[in-house]
Amino acid sequence: MSEHLTPVVIVGARGRMGRVLIREVTGSDNFVLVGAVDRSGGPGRGLDAGRLAGTVDIGVTVTDELIPRRAVVVDFSLPQATVGNIRRCVDAGVPLVLGTTGIDAEARAVLSEASRTIPIVSDANFSVGITLLSRLAGLAARALGPSWDTEIIEIHHKHKRDAPSGTALRLAKAVAKATDRNLADLIRTDRSGSASEPRHEGEIGIVAVRGGDSVGEHTLMFLTDGERIELSHRASDRAIFARGALRAARWVESREPGLYSMADVLGLADLG
Ligand code: NAD
Repeated sequence: MSEHLTPVVIVGARGRMGRVLIREVTGSDNFVLVGAVDRSGGPGRGLDAGRLAGTVDIGVTVTDELIPRRAVVVDFSLPQATVGNIRRCVDAGVPLVLGTTGIDAEARAVLSEASRTIPIVSDANFSVGITLLSRLAGLAARALGPSWDTEIIEIHHKHKRDAPSGTALRLAKAVAKATDRNLADLIRTDRSGSASEPRHEGEIGIVAVRGGDSVGEHTLMFLTDGERIELSHRASDRAIFARGALRAARWVESREPGLYSMADVLGLADLG
């Protein structure tokens, strides 16, 4: 057992990510769960968090109101809850790890303002592998230059609603940024109807495959005459996001106020 246990409160405890987070926290020697919150009236209310997550009772009851105590708040809930949760963290002066995606401009402004008072790690993808892959994408694109063709293939389960995935867009953006280009001018997600047209120079193509139960696969290709480089990441378990978020929770516990990303947690932020 490690000497210091990082106390965490999980918000969105009843959700897919919340339950994985509870399992990861209770199975780790580095953390202690001190609170579990889900929205008012949800079926998980009043249940023991361990039981909710399918493990043993741990003596922490799921409540419907976030009352932060001395702990890192790990929020994977829904965008409607984000502003209220940030404000409660600011009032209590506790660090926040925010994984909720789809937050609007108002919430982003509140987040930015709050980061003057408390340390916050916010990222749309807490996977260590994807964070590294994004940096590798930028490094490769910068070294190869815009004359190399870039294509991305992503695969996700059949229930996924959005295409291309946010992660594919993030990789494309990293390539565009590293070569001083604007992604909106380059992205190509549909080549149908252009059979007689060759590939446009500089475009970044994205192919979205949907089917089965794939948690998420991304392959970034750099192609030129005579050679091809492929960088791939395959996720097989949602727990990677929870493990990344908990790594961020441990990291942010002793930080100065500021708005950080998973790249900061991994020490990759300066690599472009
Ligand atoms: P989910 O719908 O299974 O769970 C969301 C939970 O939040 C539900 O139990 C809901 O009752 C609860 N909730 C709603 N309003 C609340 C409130 N006001 N206070 C407390 N709890 C509230 O969703 P999920 O798959 O667990 O994902 C949750 C969020 O995390 C989504 O925004 C998702 O896109 C995001 N996510 C982020 C990453 C990442 O790496 N950043 C990875 C996976 C999912």
